[in-house]
Amino acid sequence: MKAELISVGTELLLGDILNTNAQYLSKELAALGITVHRESVIGDNPDRLAQLVEDAKGRSDLLLFTGGLGPTGDDLTKETVARVFHDELVLDEGELDKIRMYFECRGGMPHNNEKQAMVPKRGEKIENTCGTAPGVLFRDEGCTAILMPGVPHEMRTMFERSVRGRLMEMAGGAIVSTMLHIFGPGESSLEEMVGDLLEGANPTAALYAKNCEVAVRVTARGADEKEAAALRDQLTARFRERLGDLIYSEDAEGLENVVVPLLVGKRQRLATAESCTGGLLAQRITSVGGASEMFDFGAVTYASSIKRRILGVKPSTLKKYGAVSSVTAAEMAFGIQREAKADFGVGITGIAGPGGGTADKPVGTVYVAVSTGHRVWVKRLSVEHSERSRVRRMSSQHALDMVR
Ligand code: ATP
Ligand code: MG
Repeated sequence: MKAELISVGTELLLGDILNTNAQYLSKELAALGITVHRESVIGDNPDRLAQLVEDAKGRSDLLLFTGGLGPTGDDLTKETVARVFHDELVLDEGELDKIRMYFECRGGMPHNNEKQAMVPKRGEKIENTCGTAPGVLFRDEGCTAILMPGVPHEMRTMFERSVRGRLMEMAGGAIVSTMLHIFGPGESSLEEMVGDLLEGANPTAALYAKNCEVAVRVTARGADEKEAAALRDQLTARFRERLGDLIYSEDAEGLENVVVPLLVGKRQRLATAESCTGGLLAQRITSVGGASEMFDFGAVTYASSIKRRILGVKPSTLKKYGAVSSVTAAEMAFGIQREAKADFGVGITGIAGPGGGTADKPVGTVYVAVSTGHRVWVKRLSVEHSERSRVRRMSSQHALDMVR
């Protein structure tokens, strides 16, 4: 099935807003195993829109529209697509009542809004549970057009409740997918490791780099859900064989979502002493429900004097090796572990940039240490050519990875 996305709205062409609807729909369609061949953005101009719809209808099986379902004069998507799809719009009394009711406590329905109650005669309407404009569906000459509102949360809700199911039916059979979350190798090294597994058509797999890690989405289509799941699981198993522990989770994104339950399960506690990450690690840990069962104490120790006073980092260490050094990181980890009486202490110290780098410790140099009180592990990171936020995120990633 060839699909095409059409985003309608002059404000998109002017750069006033970012086309997040298209991004959302592209991802959702990919997850359903439906290939998007084209994406267009078009202004609120009925002639140009009609031309685009004519062309798109001739070359694709499915057209997904967002925007232009509103009550104002420039909202013309429905009328225009109806014409190209040789359909007619008729007043739906039920929809009109709903719209009237919506406006009842808001000073009465403006006349304009009546047109939102117009629905296709041959096609279908699609319920809008959070706004006044219903979505619509037209069919003609083997092509299906689905029109959704432009307002992102209305569009998403409509997609999730009513459109996704229809698309699954249209795509035929069942489609299942899973996400493998991977930390360690970057996108290109991962591609070298598993490139051959990314080539199949069914099941398929695709790589995504995001938030300092990589995810692989494995999708399969089958006659029924069981068949699709079996195909998906076959390919997933091959990724697991190849990548082993580099896969930290299936479906749940975020290393913290693995680390917190892991330590809770082992009845172990963790404490953190952070410098360049400024509490990001503690924030990530405490964003997970139940974190209090494994976390009591996180300190942001930015100044050297505080590293000394609170964590017991030795003045001689700071003098000889500097605040950004493996020894300082180790002493921070050791100090916080002791203060919190935890099973593990984590220490992070580094240079997040943009300033502060030196020849032997450039921006992006970070030391992450994990101490048990008896032993300590330290990792030196070189998060090169990166913005401050990436250096910080990456440091927290490594810290979580070291304790999992
Ligand atoms: P309304 O009833 O509000 O007029 P509509 O279906 O006619 O809804 P538009 O008028 O095209 O939709 O867009 C409404 C608002 O939704 C826009 O001002 C914009 O903020 C947002 N929006 C529209 N299209 C997109 C898009 N492709 N991506 C992100 N936001 C969008
Ligand atoms: Mg509008």
